[in-house]
Amino acid sequence: MAYVINSECISCGACEGECTVSAISEGDDKFVIDAELCIDCGACATVCPVEAPNPAE
Ligand code: SF4
Ligand code: SF4
Repeated sequence: MAYVINSECISCGACEGECTVSAISEGDDKFVIDAELCIDCGACATVCPVEAPNPAE
């Protein structure tokens, strides 16, 4: 399991610093989560203003 950032992301960058395993980085049109690194903690979702990070289905 890993969190995934959806298309609502406005690239504010708030989530990047919250991730303790540095799984989040800036992508072409939105921030992205490396599924190999994500430990599913949910910290990124708590700081996102647009609820873009969500648990993968
Ligand atoms: Fe990082 Fe946790 Fe968000 Fe995964 S759920 S990207 S580990 S802050
Ligand atoms: Fe995108 Fe939300 Fe992260 Fe900001 S906090 S970069 S809007 S996912």
